[in-house]
Amino acid sequence: LIGDGPHARDELIEHLHRLNDSQGALFKGQLAALAAEMRLSMAEVIEVASFYHHFQVLDDDEAAPALTLRVCDSLSCAMAGGRELLARLGEALSPQVQVVATPCVGRCEQAPVAVLGQRPLLRATLPAVLQQVAQGDGASHPPAAQAPQAYDPAAQAPCALTRGDEPLSPPWTGLAAYRAQGGYALWRAVVAGQKSAEEVLSEMEASGLRGLGGAGFPAGRKWRIVREQPAPRLMAVNIDEGEPGTFKDRSYLERDPHRFLEGALVAAQVVGVSAIYIYLRDEYHGARAVLQQALAELQDFANESSVGALPPIILRRGAGAYVCGEESAMIESIEGKRGEPRLRPPYIAQRGLFGRPTLEHNFETLYWVRDIAQRGAAWFTGFGRHGRVGLRSFSVSGRVRQPGVKLAPAGITLRELVEEYCGGMAEGHTLYGYLPGGASGGLLPARLADVPLDFDTLQPHGCFIGSAAVVVFSQADSARALAHNAMQFFAHESCGQCTPCRVGTDKAAHLMGLPGTWDHPTLNDLSTVMMDASICGLGQAAPNVIRCVQRYFPEEVGNPGDAS
Ligand code: SF4
Repeated sequence: LIGDGPHARDELIEHLHRLNDSQGALFKGQLAALAAEMRLSMAEVIEVASFYHHFQVLDDDEAAPALTLRVCDSLSCAMAGGRELLARLGEALSPQVQVVATPCVGRCEQAPVAVLGQRPLLRATLPAVLQQVAQGDGASHPPAAQAPQAYDPAAQAPCALTRGDEPLSPPWTGLAAYRAQGGYALWRAVVAGQKSAEEVLSEMEASGLRGLGGAGFPAGRKWRIVREQPAPRLMAVNIDEGEPGTFKDRSYLERDPHRFLEGALVAAQVVGVSAIYIYLRDEYHGARAVLQQALAELQDFANESSVGALPPIILRRGAGAYVCGEESAMIESIEGKRGEPRLRPPYIAQRGLFGRPTLEHNFETLYWVRDIAQRGAAWFTGFGRHGRVGLRSFSVSGRVRQPGVKLAPAGITLRELVEEYCGGMAEGHTLYGYLPGGASGGLLPARLADVPLDFDTLQPHGCFIGSAAVVVFSQADSARALAHNAMQFFAHESCGQCTPCRVGTDKAAHLMGLPGTWDHPTLNDLSTVMMDASICGLGQAAPNVIRCVQRYFPEEVGNPGDAS
């Protein structure tokens, strides 16, 4: 299963996937054999295997589940009845089928979602899932990956850009179609020196493009910082997209993978990167198939043309750990270790993957490189509303008529986004509030639906846009229940490395789930400690939902005292 060649330490998680895929679980006897083969201690193998939610370590005399059904219970799916579906499926199918709750699987626009083996079942209902189980879909090892869904432009309407521009990305699926639209011309020009690295870098800086994974660091400045570091330099691309409510990267990847790959190649050329590592979340089986096909096409193209050799591009698979969306945790995971965030400094740009200076980017940031470099920074900065500049891809889910990825001007308000891009609120629902940035970005009430949505505009209100995962809720929902759901998610996903987060999220989730008035003094203490003393953004941002419910929805949780 793991081949005969030398086994580098960083391939450990890939090997664990091969074993897990083939048998539905990891058996300790085989892990001992793997440890011997890779010249690792058993403790090293077990500590990694036990960290990731998608690996199940069993004794040799235990039986692997014949079939596992995961039902998403995160925000959008919970609003769509995911938890009730989970309970009813458990009653109907256990113990023959292992039915488990799973955090967000990145398909929130089609909630509720169940995943049978590796096959997502969208807008899942009890009869539909039972039928799929009866047919045995997803039961095989290795399970069949679901074919990617075709991109449906109609589902995006009315997603028109405000300047009447042509659609940015028709539903291209392969290299031929991408090249027919001028694809890879930019990369070839940069490699051939017809367009200088400095030219591209200047356009990136002038565009003001910021990291679209959530941190918002200016992309051009990051390129310049890493470029000035000693070679060899590496690139790590983050497609872990685990923030509940976020699905934009998957949507773009499934429809237009070469646009992203060209952006990555241009960045690699400009910054002087010698290898590109792509970290893709394990839940995205269809997207992985698309990306593998696109990489094969790209390799053939490079072989046949005189453009020169590609840098090595290594595709790595996550294993079910939200914290690996944090850049240093992702790097640890790419190195084949537990995904525990690193203390900084040193920063990733100086000492990242394998100890080398590393350019770390979210998928979507690279997706826009080609358009910005070819059309010019002014094209990108020509978009925007309410004094903000640029474009944002909002993942919109919840109580709207047309959920989906909405490419809209930066600074658009929630009210405008819902009315102009989502067809308004779902029938029978009135806006009560929204989460502007997934589980970690906090909650806002309907009376703040006219605040521009962008980096920096939400902080005065105690919220963050993050990866622009907008979850809209109505009078049918409870802000308190959504906040509790988010805290349960953080408790589940805490890597456990530092006590304020490990204990704080768990304790807060318990308190938030108790009936009656919240224990505000204790929740305030926990919030302060988590914000001040957690190592990474997970623990630091987890209290946002507490603070927001206390501030904006006090009628649901009792008087918060000095919480505002
Ligand atoms: Fe791990 Fe939480 Fe600490 Fe981050 S804040 S390092 S997730 S325990």
